[in-house]
Amino acid sequence: MEFIHQPYYPGETIAAIATPPGEGGVAIIRISGDQSLEVAAKIFSGSIFSYRSHTAHYGQIYNSSGEHVDDVLVLIMLGKRSYTGENTVEIHCHGGSLITRKVLEVVLAAGARAALPGEFTFKAYMNGKIDLAQAEAVQELICAKNEKALGAAESQLKGSLSNRVLAFQSTLTQIAAILEAWVDFPEEGLEFATMDELDQDLERTAKDMEKLVNSFHNGKILHDGLSICLIGCPNVGKSSLMNALLDKDRAIVSPIPGTTRDVLEDHLRLNGLHIKLSDTAGIREANESVEQEGIRRSKKAMQEADLILLVLDAHKGLEKEDQELLKQVPFHKTIVIWNKIDLNPRNLPCLEVPFLVHLSAKEKIGLEELHQTIDTIIWQDGPPSKEEILITNVRHKEALIESIESLRRVQIGLRHQVSPEFLTLDMRQSLLELGKIIGTNISEDILSAIFSKFCIGK
Ligand code: GDP
Repeated sequence: MEFIHQPYYPGETIAAIATPPGEGGVAIIRISGDQSLEVAAKIFSGSIFSYRSHTAHYGQIYNSSGEHVDDVLVLIMLGKRSYTGENTVEIHCHGGSLITRKVLEVVLAAGARAALPGEFTFKAYMNGKIDLAQAEAVQELICAKNEKALGAAESQLKGSLSNRVLAFQSTLTQIAAILEAWVDFPEEGLEFATMDELDQDLERTAKDMEKLVNSFHNGKILHDGLSICLIGCPNVGKSSLMNALLDKDRAIVSPIPGTTRDVLEDHLRLNGLHIKLSDTAGIREANESVEQEGIRRSKKAMQEADLILLVLDAHKGLEKEDQELLKQVPFHKTIVIWNKIDLNPRNLPCLEVPFLVHLSAKEKIGLEELHQTIDTIIWQDGPPSKEEILITNVRHKEALIESIESLRRVQIGLRHQVSPEFLTLDMRQSLLELGKIIGTNISEDILSAIFSKFCIGK
């Protein structure tokens, strides 16, 4: 078995700094493997082998020359009850970068190997403490940018997705068994179930799996957040709106048209979501090459955005350039905004657009309505509930889609009286794809790719 270009030996003792780099109150060095206690015993003042599991002990770390390195707290976690499922020792030392590195050096000199990224979680996976979907949830938990993403990662780590996949597997295994029996005794035809019953079971399972695939839309928003792009003619108030949404002065607000030459980006939290907001150069015909480049980038940002805020100046009314812009935007993801309503505009033309908001970026009027409209557009059937199982990972989505496709082939085959040998092949393929989500039947390349995204020490 290769783990990120390094042979993997089960039980090999590894060590790494588990806390982020930099200065802090405390830093943690984690040691895991068969020899963890031996390594710790060589460098720690206390009698490591006498300690019970899950106990903490104060003492000193000494290097091989007997020199004092640091005063530390040592935490012992034995065997299956640790994160990795192996003997684990954590050394809580002082949190300076130099002192932490020195303690790690002493640990490595005592016989541990420097851990690779994600190797502790990899050990947990290999030792059956968690499955692959749960291992991926650990990484999502660490990277979660907002409360909702954190909630989804926590639920996945607790096994919500894995349990759902196991339930699918169990149903499909039963169907597969019936089909296999048919292969073995073809003259007896389908036993244990009628053709219709099998078809219905397959239909129900495929539908449930499709529901999970569809949750990816919401899952992705929770996980990655949203990109929102502000567009509009120069001086309509895009930068002012960006500042109002961010609640700080990020973009330069100026009465001179064409001030925003490039795409400005910033991040904010809106209704518990992570949002990347970009304020684009005013899209209009420009002669100057810098401004032309800005406009090219604006168009690109508009295409890539999850949501577009098209800003219009209510004081000026609808101008020719605004009409051009209205022709360019995809309405399903665009909120048209009449800005500057504090100037009491009269006789605004009636716009036939699905999402329209009146506001004043300067006076911060109408922002709540904008927030609500954003919510309406992004959640297909309302925001997901806390209990809902969502998939946030493309790998899981693809495996589910492949699995469903195989199921659909079985259904078509059944209806067209295809020989059961072929049906069982598709059935097996469907189960194989499902297994990839939780980590059975997974190639080493994929494993390496998944764990190499982790940080060292996790
Ligand atoms: P941009 O070129 O579209 O980014 O527009 P700016 O945000 O730079 O604003 C252009 C001008 O319009 C500035 O003088 C702003 O103070 C003004 N402005 C922006 N929003 C409002 C608003 O809601 N009400 C009023 N009265 N003026 C605004």
